[in-house]
Amino acid sequence: MEALPHFPYSPNAFKPELGLFEASEIECPCCKKVRGYSYQLTPYCEKDIDNLCPWCIADGKASEKFEASFSQDVSRDQPIAVEASEQVYARTPGYISWQGENWLGHCNDACAFIEYVGFDDIAHIWEEVEGDIELAGWDKEIVKENLQKEGNMVGYLFRCRQCGKHRLSVDCD
Ligand SMILES: [Zn+2]
Ligand SMILES: [Zn+2]
Repeated sequence: MEALPHFPYSPNAFKPELGLFEASEIECPCCKKVRGYSYQLTPYCEKDIDNLCPWCIADGKASEKFEASFSQDVSRDQPIAVEASEQVYARTPGYISWQGENWLGHCNDACAFIEYVGFDDIAHIWEEVEGDIELAGWDKEIVKENLQKEGNMVGYLFRCRQCGKHRLSVDCD
């Protein structure tokens, strides 16, 4: 099989626990080929486009053909380079969320999405991310008590591709 594409802003995209791609024998609606992997989320576009192959996401063909984007919002709270937000919207898989993606940025770049997290997963880097929690208007104690990887309050962990700082986005059902 072809080597899987690399997503610079979503380096873990093929980890099963992220739930973004599954092995499948379904034809990709963009390239019309059965390529072994199907995207499990539905991109933002006019039609319902399911089961895209990762290659058509990575090279921008799916975004172009269907005028699709893969994230709802990119970097609401930080200015980032236009090319970075374009790459996240058009050539990077989104992530599973309650209220839609809010892809974080730092150092004028979009961050890399790392994984879904609960408090236990980020306790060791809590000081690094607690500012993000306040910035987003959450009560830190409530987040500390309720943040779970698979629950009604989920954390999305990002890491800056420039300086390595972790950033956290919190989402609730
Ligand atoms: Zn395809
Ligand atoms: Zn940074």
